[in-house]
Amino acid sequence: MISFQTPEEMKEVIAALYRFIEVEVEPLRKKYQKELENERYFYDENGLYAERIQEAFKQVRLKSAKAGFYTMFGVPELGGSGDKFGPIAVALIYEAILKKYGLDPLVMEIFPAGLFTDGLTPALLGMHPETKDELVPRISKGEITLCFGLSEPDAGSDVWAMKTKAVKDGDHWIINGTKQWITNAHYAQYGIIFAVTDPDLVAKRKGGITCFLVPFDGKTCVATSSIPYMGQLGSRIAIVSIENARVPEKNMIGDLHQGFGKALHGVDIGRIVMASNCIGAAQWALDKAINYANERKAFGVTIGNHQAIQVMLADCAMEIYAARNMVLHCAWKMENQDKLPIKEISMIKAYCTEMLQRVLDRCIQIHGAMGLTNEMKLEKVWRWARTLRIPDGTTEIQKRTIARRLLQGDTSFQ
Ligand SMILES: Cc1cc2nc3c(=O)[nH]c(=O)nc-3n(C[C@H](O)[C@H](O)[C@H](O)COP(=O)(O)OP(=O)(O)OC[C@H]3O[C@@H](n4cnc5c(N)ncnc54)[C@H](O)[C@@H]3O)c2cc1C
Repeated sequence: MISFQTPEEMKEVIAALYRFIEVEVEPLRKKYQKELENERYFYDENGLYAERIQEAFKQVRLKSAKAGFYTMFGVPELGGSGDKFGPIAVALIYEAILKKYGLDPLVMEIFPAGLFTDGLTPALLGMHPETKDELVPRISKGEITLCFGLSEPDAGSDVWAMKTKAVKDGDHWIINGTKQWITNAHYAQYGIIFAVTDPDLVAKRKGGITCFLVPFDGKTCVATSSIPYMGQLGSRIAIVSIENARVPEKNMIGDLHQGFGKALHGVDIGRIVMASNCIGAAQWALDKAINYANERKAFGVTIGNHQAIQVMLADCAMEIYAARNMVLHCAWKMENQDKLPIKEISMIKAYCTEMLQRVLDRCIQIHGAMGLTNEMKLEKVWRWARTLRIPDGTTEIQKRTIARRLLQGDTSFQ
């Protein structure tokens, strides 16, 4: 029997999260209001988070870890509760948060970024026991954070074009290269860095990339500059310069030459996160548009009486409904089927990110000039929605995966 009802225990978790936000996060919002509400204070002159913003984020992280939320989706092998809170829980919880709070930077800090670039990410599976004992307790408490260094100036969609190299030197590895667009690089203590260890295997696209944990030591591994984008005065993404970083063998994660599969592993849950964020944010925007359509008057009636507005509202609702069911179905497949639903994971990433942008665009239109103001925050979420079509595999790369699966005979929609 298929059930689309949110399970009772999930409703309780969501209620507990709302309470946590009320009791622990809202006081911080008041304390750091000036920095949170004005981008001129949110970022410093170099486009980095202002010190007080870093302080606020750290407090949310530490409180979230203490309450058990920070690690609730983490891999069980490292002490996370991802076995209890699988893809369906991820989908329902992220949706609930974004629907209620929209794109709220403080609230977003409750969980590690994307669930795969930081925290107890699947990318850490295969750590050396010594490194694991040393770092995992501190990662779990939110004391130290990570970043995920895969992309490079000349290697984005085509990861195989990677130039960062790791060369063996006794019981150490010497790593050289540049990583680009790396989320959280400026604030992380360690980078999960992917490097070429066997160029011949890489040339054949048969492996040859290995994953290492590289400390940001301020000399050999450094986040050099933040990259402002989409009208922001700064950002969380940065360029990472790695010059003769010497890391011990125990910092290798997983098997030699097998880093590529590792990189893809965590991205799956990241795509559920991203798609569910989109569904929550789209409902947040639609709620605003419905309220406005019921209040704002033009030509003697509230604008909700005009058919053109009704059509936009209906188009938003249809797309949200379709997207939401896609995500839940895909999450269900991830939890209940042996094989990873590769085609469906790509579908939800591509569809939900594009859906959110269309929904936001209509909701801005319904608000008229008000929709363009900072006050409504719709334009900010629209800019964010636009960015989502690029990271974790562009829309085109997702469609390439979907088509390849279809052509290989995976034509089932069940
Ligand atoms: C906000 C943000 C955060 C990010 N965070 C991280 C991070 O933490 N860690 C990390 O490693 N990376 C991160 N990235 C990088 C991201 O993963 C890459 O930007 C992405 O993989 C695309 O690579 P690219 O930008 O080099 O575009 P390219 O690969 O150069 O693509 C350019 C265009 O060509 C298209 N294209 C390329 N190949 C094909 C093909 N075979 N078929 C059809 N079309 C194709 C693309 O879809 C795109 O439209 C982040 C990016 C952003 C924007």
